[in-house]
Parts: sequence; structure tokens; C-alpha cells
Amino acid sequence: MRFLPVFIDVTSGPVVLVGCGEHAAAKLRLLRAAHATVRWYPGHTDVADEIVQAAAGPGQLQVDFHDPLTADLAGAIAVVSAAGAGLDEQISARARAAGIPVNVVDRADLSTFVFPAIVDRGEVVVAIGTSGHAPVLARRLREQIEALVPGRIGDLAALMGRYRRRVADAMHSPRAFWQKVVDGPIGAAVLAGRTTRAEADLVRCIEEDARDARADTGTVFLVGAGPGNPDLLTLRALQVLQDADIVFHDELVTDAVLDRVRRDAKRVFVGKKRGQPGIGQDEINRRLIDAARAGRKVVRLKGGDAFIFGRGGEEIEQLRAHDIPVVIVPGITAALGCAAEAELPLTFRNEATRLSFVTAHRADEANDVDWSLHADKQTTVVVYMGLASATAVRDGLVAAGRDPATPAAVLARGTRPDSRAIVGRLGDLPRLATSAGEGPALLVIGEVVAHSAPWREALEFLNAQVAA
Ligand code: SAH
Repeated sequence: MRFLPVFIDVTSGPVVLVGCGEHAAAKLRLLRAAHATVRWYPGHTDVADEIVQAAAGPGQLQVDFHDPLTADLAGAIAVVSAAGAGLDEQISARARAAGIPVNVVDRADLSTFVFPAIVDRGEVVVAIGTSGHAPVLARRLREQIEALVPGRIGDLAALMGRYRRRVADAMHSPRAFWQKVVDGPIGAAVLAGRTTRAEADLVRCIEEDARDARADTGTVFLVGAGPGNPDLLTLRALQVLQDADIVFHDELVTDAVLDRVRRDAKRVFVGKKRGQPGIGQDEINRRLIDAARAGRKVVRLKGGDAFIFGRGGEEIEQLRAHDIPVVIVPGITAALGCAAEAELPLTFRNEATRLSFVTAHRADEANDVDWSLHADKQTTVVVYMGLASATAVRDGLVAAGRDPATPAAVLARGTRPDSRAIVGRLGDLPRLATSAGEGPALLVIGEVVAHSAPWREALEFLNAQVAA
């Protein structure tokens, strides 16, 4: 390790920047964003638009069109050069002679410091360095870290900063206190964007000298797992899964998604296996509450989105009634995941201006649906849990006036490796449903089905047969 990472306060003195190309523009933007005072020697007077834009920002900027070799280094805390071969060497030599840290862009050999790739979350910054050897590698690593570091972690650091003194004065063990804040519901609330509420809770905990910061109670994260493909998890879901102590999941959550759960977390299946009743909603609620009361980070992982036919509403009401903090993490609901995969636009200008999500678990449930609400030609109807009641769905829609020739699709096991799309007409929906096979499936009825990829493929297939 030749370069040791340190964080420099760039507001403490001027940074001298030399050059006016693309690299200089990037450094200027970075320094300006960090509120640095920049003494800039472009070396030319015809400065590109790009760099003029980069020059906008907070902090002070002095531009000097004199020869960069005569640059005033007095009081400078650093020199950054992107002047090009020849000049760079001389500037580096001058800075070193003056004992000022110098960076020459893309020339670690001429530099006494290098710029790392950074993940910037306000007060929290992650720096990745490769000693100047492999910036591409650093950027790749940065992408991976970007996905794992919560977007609002800087807010959490800022909040802790504001109360650091007070906690240090008031608590026996500030460290233990903060640990519990970070791991407990207060930390979770900040990361979920509920900073005002979190701050009020924090103040209360400090005032009550609550040794526990409410951290004896864990938080339940109600997480949408998406339709199956783990790449469709949200970044937040991934972060929560990586941090979980225990995960309660049901039958819609795929193994590929469970693979993204922290290795040491406990996994508990609380769904229904085929032909067997599940443990029931009351028992699920009881287990979630028990786990949270034991102080754990509990994840309730549900297929798609928890608030779309996922009983998420019921679960959070129960948890709230028991005073358990809950954080909701949205997921991609089956309709969106399946439609994207089938290249099926759920709405379409002038053609499909309304969208209905309907559930029809059993035929009697399908018979209870007021299909006249979904009979309009411009409504795309997506039926969840409708595979077994496809006949009732078709009969209901046709009786309500929907044309039996309306394009229809069955999208089965969407976004999973064995996904299948079957297309046809509403009148034929029961037959389409029978050929879908095992596993979750959606029924989609509407003109837009004719814009989908499986529809186009079916047409091509038919045309080829006619031609043959
Ligand atoms: N909360 C879930 C829906 C739960 S209801 C969500 O937002 O997606 C269960 C129904 O969702 C299934 O019967 C099926 O109709 C649909 N479904 C879930 N995952 C699916 C998938 N990968 N492909 C097709 N349909 C799916």
C-alpha cells in the first residue's frame, strides 16, 4: 500500500488546478462539489463550455490565465494537474519542491496523492483506491458498493453528528447507545426517509436516558421480493436482506431471491405447500411479533409487492397494534414484471387508458367480481390468482359485454427461468389457462396484448405455417 486513504478538508485552503481539458473539468466539478476553494490555471483563454459548466458551484473559484508554470502555490493545500505531458512533469516537480501534495491525472508516478473512486452519501463517503493502477477496477467496485450502501446513510450520520455531544455528556456508554440507534428502529426510520420522526424518537431516548434506545424491540421490514428474478429486487430490498437476522418467506419467493439473503440469517418458510394448508395468518403475525420482541431484524418477504394482493396491510396493522416498528420496502408486482418480460405495454395511448388489477382466487370469488367495471374496451384487465377460475373470468367479462375476440394472455412463472407466455382470445381463455402448467400465473385481457412479444411471435409462426 503506497497510498494511504485519508480524508482532507478541502475548505481549509486553496487547491491549485492546472489544465482545461475533460480531465481538468472532472476534477473541477469534484472539487467544487466538495466546496473547495480552487485557484485554477486553465493555461488557455479559449475554455470549453464543459469546463465553464463544471466551474459553477459552491466555494470560491479564482481563475488565472497566466502561464501555469508561474502558478502561485502559496498556501495551497494541494495541486492537481491535468495539463498534459511536459507541463505535468514540471508542475509536479514544483509542487513537490514546495512540499505540497500533488496529483497528476492518470500519472501515479508523478503524484504524491491519488483520487479514489467514491461512493458519496453526503456525510458518509466510501473511497476505493487502486494506488492509481486500475481506475476501471475501482469504478466497478464502486458500482457494487453503491448498490449496498443505503441512500440515506448520510442523513443518519448527520443526525448522529448533531447529537453526538449531548449523548457523550449524558450517557454512560455512548458507544453502546449509538450502536443500538443504528441497529434499531431509529436507524431504520432514517434510512426509510422518516427523519423527523426518528429525530423525535432519538431526543426522547436521550431524555429518558433510555439505556436501550428502544433497540430491545427489533424492526419488521415488510419487503416485496418481486416476481422471481432476483435482479428485480430493489436496492433497498437487497440492503435489508443483507442485514436481516431472520427472514419469513412464502411460496412465491424464489430460491434465487433467497440466495441474496445474508448467509447467517435464519430462513423460515411460512407459506403454503401444494395441497397443504399454511400455518395461517394469525400464526405468521405471532411469529413476526415474537421475533421482533426478541430484538431481531425481521424480514417478512413476500412475492411481488406486499400491498398488492399480499395481505401486507393486515400484517402491518397487527404489528402496529403490538407496537412493533415496521418499515415497508416496495417490490415489483407480478403484473409489472410479467408485462415487462412479455414486452406488453399495460397502457397504450388512445387504446388502453385504464388498468385493473383484479383477484379471482376461486370461481365463486370470480363470480362475485362486478365485471361490468372492467368491460370497457380501453381497460386492460390483469387477473391475479385467476388460473383456476379462468372460465368464470371469461364468462363474467363476456356477459358484461367484453368482446370474446379481445386479445388475452396467460403469463406463467413470469421472470423465472421457466417462464411461459400463452396468447389467444378472451373466448379461449380457459384453454390458454390449462396449458400454462404449474406455478403462479396472471391472466391479461385487453387490446394491448396484441402489442406483446409472444403475440408477434405467434403471428410469425402462423404466417410461416401458411406460407409452408
Ligand atoms: N403480492 C404479489 C401477488 C400475490 S397473489 C404481487 O404483487 O405480485 C399471487 C398471485 O400473483 C399468483 O396467483 C399469480 O397470479 C401472481 N404472480 C405472482 N408471481 C408471479 C409470477 N412470477 N408470474 C406470474 N404471476 C405471478
